[in-house]
Amino acid sequence: MSALPLLSPSIGQHTDLASAQPVRLHSGSLLQLSVSAFSSIVFCTLLLWTSVATASAGPGAAADNKPLIQQLVSWWQKKIMPHERYAEKLLKASSKQPAAEQWLAAAEQALQKPFSLSTAHAELGRFNRNEVRADGYQVTVKQGQRLLVELSAADNFNGRLFVDLFKHNPPGVRQQTATNDGTPTLLPEYSLLAGKVIDNSKQRQIVQEHIPDYDGQWLLRLQPELLTSGRYKLRVTVAPLLGFPVQNASNSAARSFFGVDRDAGRRRHHGVDIFAPRHTPVLAVADGTVVRVSESPRGGLHVWLQDRQRFAAYYFAHLEATTVSRGQRVRRGEQLGTVGNSGNARTTPPHLHFGMYRSGPIDPWPYIRQTSALSPATNSQHRNAVGQQVAFNSRSSATLRLRAGPGTAFAIRDHLRSGSRVQVLAASSDWFKVRTDDGLLGWASANYLTPVARPEPEMSGEITTKNSG
Ligand SMILES: [Zn+2]
Repeated sequence: MSALPLLSPSIGQHTDLASAQPVRLHSGSLLQLSVSAFSSIVFCTLLLWTSVATASAGPGAAADNKPLIQQLVSWWQKKIMPHERYAEKLLKASSKQPAAEQWLAAAEQALQKPFSLSTAHAELGRFNRNEVRADGYQVTVKQGQRLLVELSAADNFNGRLFVDLFKHNPPGVRQQTATNDGTPTLLPEYSLLAGKVIDNSKQRQIVQEHIPDYDGQWLLRLQPELLTSGRYKLRVTVAPLLGFPVQNASNSAARSFFGVDRDAGRRRHHGVDIFAPRHTPVLAVADGTVVRVSESPRGGLHVWLQDRQRFAAYYFAHLEATTVSRGQRVRRGEQLGTVGNSGNARTTPPHLHFGMYRSGPIDPWPYIRQTSALSPATNSQHRNAVGQQVAFNSRSSATLRLRAGPGTAFAIRDHLRSGSRVQVLAASSDWFKVRTDDGLLGWASANYLTPVARPEPEMSGEITTKNSG
């Protein structure tokens, strides 16, 4: 039930290119692009000026000018995001110095102690002009997945809200590419990848559809400019890069995965088997070109699809019938054939063997495994609590857990004591992001928190007694 990688060699040759461009800008990144374009023009002008100055000053001046060029190159390469520009402006305005420092400290703190997110997160939150705050979120994106961040502001949002996306580099990791003198450099702990801003003129932003080609940690930061009040909505989704190859099938239809033994251990399974009734449509997982339609003893009737955008080839085997021909361009979701059990699958129930190849076979499962696209809705009672004070009142001497994210799967950060009052900063499903008077931040189950001056709720589940810790 496996296949030999028999595609044209050009697919493998592009592998390095694929890893060299892990970031694909979403089409909405006009701001970023225009900054880059402007920077390029300035850079070229300055470079030209520098060259002229070097030539006219004679050979001795060349060495002195080199650091300047390097500075310009690094300045050019570094995209200046709205958040950074605002920070610079704040620092220059000396009258606002203490607030500016507080604001910058909050920005740093948000990255140092981020909340955690699952693969589908939606929250309704509020910033208040009386506070200086930034919220950080950490999310894990696996190879084969993309990250989509959407942010929108309410009509009455009276300032700007910055949203920045960072790659989190583990501390102590050194850069692969050496500097000019040959010494490897330490990567900064956070590399800024994208920055956007929302305000009343631009109330919705898709921050970036980020496509890494490796497992990684990403950090998202929300921070309004000083003296801003208003509500926002944040949606973070982690989704597979490719479409599912069998129509109306779900994850549970996949039963034999990449790497398991075949032929009594003599070879490995180079794909995923997805079981479905005979004649179920088999679909293109991406836009591409059909480069082969053929029949072989092992794969039976099969189709190879080449995806130049991802430098990959996809193999669809054991088909009952094919509906495409060699050289045909297809779009993602278009039918290629139907599920069957041709080739060496003739003794098994009908299924699609789906393989993915770059320079060799790779595990296609993370590329197609469906993730939950929606997070549970937040009810109106919880939505109304955002921006309000709520209390945790317990008849026993219990504490309420403050977690790193909105769910019991997230780490416990702290405990709220009975009688505590907290500010609701955001709501996500049945969870509140709260801040205590002492400045503790965390997520607590909304079911145990009542608007101040409301009756006490019944206690169970997400609470602990003093004795049990
Ligand atoms: Zn198989």
